[in-house]
Amino acid sequence: MLGNHVRESIIQARAELYAKTEWAEYHSHLKHRVHAKDLHKYFLLTESEEIGIKETIRLNVSASPYYLKLSDPFDPHCPIRRMIVPDSHETVLSPEESPDPLHEERLSPVKGLTHMYPNRVLLFSNHSCTVYCRHCMRGRKVSANDERMEEADLIQAFAYIKDHPEIEDVVISGGDPLNLPDSRIEWILAELNAIPHVRLCRLGTRNPVTLPFRITKSLLTILEKYNDDSLSIFCNTQFNHPKECTQEAKEGILRLLKVGISVGNQAVLLKGINDDKETMLQLHKKLLEMRVRAYYLYDPELIPGSRGFRTPLGKGIQIIEYMRGKIGGMGIPHFVNDLPAGGGKITLSPNWYLGYNPKTRQHAFRSALTGKVHYSFEPESSESFTYPILGENVWDQLE
Ligand code: SF4
Repeated sequence: MLGNHVRESIIQARAELYAKTEWAEYHSHLKHRVHAKDLHKYFLLTESEEIGIKETIRLNVSASPYYLKLSDPFDPHCPIRRMIVPDSHETVLSPEESPDPLHEERLSPVKGLTHMYPNRVLLFSNHSCTVYCRHCMRGRKVSANDERMEEADLIQAFAYIKDHPEIEDVVISGGDPLNLPDSRIEWILAELNAIPHVRLCRLGTRNPVTLPFRITKSLLTILEKYNDDSLSIFCNTQFNHPKECTQEAKEGILRLLKVGISVGNQAVLLKGINDDKETMLQLHKKLLEMRVRAYYLYDPELIPGSRGFRTPLGKGIQIIEYMRGKIGGMGIPHFVNDLPAGGGKITLSPNWYLGYNPKTRQHAFRSALTGKVHYSFEPESSESFTYPILGENVWDQLE
């Protein structure tokens, strides 16, 4: 009886939250975001979640009513809920974990800017987000961090970019740049647009997933204005589960496309959320229907308290192998590991290349489609390449 009463009160609390939120107004969702102290009103919490909420170390909790509505109040395994509600895994630190595993701070010549690759930089425009995703690898920067990117810090970052003509591409991330006011977004884009050697700008934002109403007419006007011959603007977002692919999200994406902003997806491989083949395939099928192209599938970073989300590397490779042949290539992400200590990204793929026979100049491949061995010939060339050589005895046994 008590259980029924609690369930009814959760359903009622959710209904009240949705009713007081002006659904199409993104400001209203931000105003009514749900924080840690209120989670018990909207979820029947497990003991592990209660520990996570009490002792969470990395990130505050925040969820827009829109995103909360996608979650299940009674099922602790709900993938959306797992990205909103901390659990006890988050409180366990492992020695291999680090708040900055990619050394983004060490590779930062001025505040809020990381220069890891020669021709591109990462600009941390702000430190707030609509939802604080429990798997976030920028926990050291977002949510509770006192450090802020002030106007003077951004001016210093622009000066650095101006002084480095090799920088062609600026990735704006944070936090989430679409959590900045329109006026600040316009100023940043105007500054970048005015730097002749900056040709590309990529907005890294989860708002198309967590609050698609943020893609307003006024924001689109700004994006359209600066997406011109001088600067090509792209949007990279992070859908992690098919449940996130709603009609509202699709409409938000279509609004971006209409002003020429192409949208790519950078999913994160998350244990118990999307680390199975069919979920990942369905996610990418839905994304293509939303006109979102697959970009990356990230192997999660070694950040503090992340053991609840990390999967063996082999899972990602198996998933990519499964997807090949079942969806067009533009729906298959590159499975990437962003190497610890600033090594940059590398792609990991199934081993479809079996080896080379120099006598016959033949390469052998395992087909993702037929599962059989297929052969192709190396042309004669003055250049020399190194291939893994397959011994005669192995070669003869291929089938
Ligand atoms: S929106 Fe991005 S930066 Fe913000 S918490 Fe989620 S993953 Fe981290």
